[in-house]
Amino acid sequence: MNAPSNVDRLEIEKFERVANLWWDPHGKMGMLHVINPLRVGFVAERVPLRGARLLDVGCGGGIFAEALAGLGAQVMGIDQSPLTLQVARQHASAAALDIAYAEQTIEVLARQEARAFDVITCMEMLEHVPDPAGVVAACAWLLKPGGKVFFSTINRTWKAWLFAIFGGEYVLRLLPRGTHQYARLIRPDELRAWAAQSGLVHDASASLMYQPFTRRFRVAPGREDVNYMMCFTRQP
Ligand code: SAH
Repeated sequence: MNAPSNVDRLEIEKFERVANLWWDPHGKMGMLHVINPLRVGFVAERVPLRGARLLDVGCGGGIFAEALAGLGAQVMGIDQSPLTLQVARQHASAAALDIAYAEQTIEVLARQEARAFDVITCMEMLEHVPDPAGVVAACAWLLKPGGKVFFSTINRTWKAWLFAIFGGEYVLRLLPRGTHQYARLIRPDELRAWAAQSGLVHDASASLMYQPFTRRFRVAPGREDVNYMMCFTRQP
């Protein structure tokens, strides 16, 4: 696990610049609000959340973390963008949600809290770090045996380039330009291989399929194209 070097400062700066947009459902981060109920459903269907000790890695402004806390999880959120964490803290406090936010890397946390979490979520974050396999390994290390980890990311295919980067950032302008770099996108087999090396067993995959005319997403179970989610269980 490459400790603090597994942070790409240029990527973090991009998120610092949009920190005030996290909670604007009509702004450039609006897409996260649109997909949030579907992502939350994928997690809530697979793991009991009430009372679960849950870590949200790369929590951003807390859109996902707040929804999980609202379902009764005891949430800790970590991120490397200080401005974003400030927004997350303010929003949680206004919503009277008790979420522990920390400016921390998962690699450092892994040294302190092995086998501490029932559930880990790491959504739309792996494609922004230099060594995503290191993040997967650290997640496995932090999970209790039998615990579950959820990842979501974007596939590295021409279709993903067309829809997520060209379409999403340049044509429909749903996301800030430059949010995603093609070379950083992750193929499902790569994610599964990193997970397997870390003792994680694949449970399920699903794709979030975008329908441009309705501006809606639907969950397609078993699919792994463009924007996909995976669930794994840590072996005892
Ligand atoms: N998970 C949130 C936000 C996704 S955006 C959601 O899906 O709603 C990606 C987030 O990952 C940003 O907030 C960015 O600051 C954070 N990030 C990028 N690299 C990181 C790293 N190495 N450690 C922790 N957070 C990181």
